[in-house]
Amino acid sequence: MKQNKKRQRIRLAILIVSLLLFPITMNYLSPYVILYGASQGIINGSFIIFALLFISSLAFGRMWCSWICPAGALGEVCRLANDKPIKYKWLDSLKWVIWFVWLGTIAFFAASAGGYKIVDFFLLTESGISVDAPMKYIIYLIVVGIFMGLALLLGRRAGCHSICWMAPFMILGRKVRNIFAWPAFRLKADQDLCINCKKCSMNCPMSLDVNRMVTEGQMENPECILCAQCADVCPKDVIHLVFQSGK
Ligand code: SF4
Ligand code: SF4
Ligand code: SF4
Repeated sequence: MKQNKKRQRIRLAILIVSLLLFPITMNYLSPYVILYGASQGIINGSFIIFALLFISSLAFGRMWCSWICPAGALGEVCRLANDKPIKYKWLDSLKWVIWFVWLGTIAFFAASAGGYKIVDFFLLTESGISVDAPMKYIIYLIVVGIFMGLALLLGRRAGCHSICWMAPFMILGRKVRNIFAWPAFRLKADQDLCINCKKCSMNCPMSLDVNRMVTEGQMENPECILCAQCADVCPKDVIHLVFQSGK
């Protein structure tokens, strides 16, 4: 029997540190600053970070979501108050609608500005710290409030499913990786060992039916953030987080 609690403790500790740093990092993940940058023809910090998220997902899938993202950390904290799995599958589609509208607006602004001409990583963040003025503190509270409100109202990491503007970059990167079957982090399962206890499904922070994924031999899921919680609670050591090629 394997109960890898240490890996999960380290993961959650890193997420909490990231959450504490969110007042510093917020603008580098901002969906607004990239829009403003596009309107001025400036490649800003969040533009670069989103591009890096796409590139990193070719090997790491959505591990950013499970190990680093401060908004993901908020979702994990809210599980202490509401740990109900998400039932509404349409929420996963909602973020794509938001993402296409947002991306289209960025493209329109950039085109209207005559294209990108300058790179300024610290655009609207001249001090390097995102929350350095009262107005920015209000914006910070609104962002935190939205992610916490959704998670408390709807359940586990609801904001990740419904409104996240970063997730589509990583989902697309993962799809590209799968097409080429490049070596990458992914889940593997030995379905013959499964005793259908459903602990994996009960513990999945993304509310996935992991037991079903195991029994159907289909461990790839665009909403899986590769947190390995399913692997670490499985009493029969059925699931493993591995780095290998495949689909
Ligand atoms: S889905 Fe979005 S908000 Fe959630 S952890 Fe991933 S990047 Fe962060
Ligand atoms: S926790 Fe392990 S044994 Fe239980 S259902 Fe999931 S994969 Fe099967
Ligand atoms: S399927 Fe497993 S690795 Fe993927 S999000 Fe759920 S618990 Fe984490």
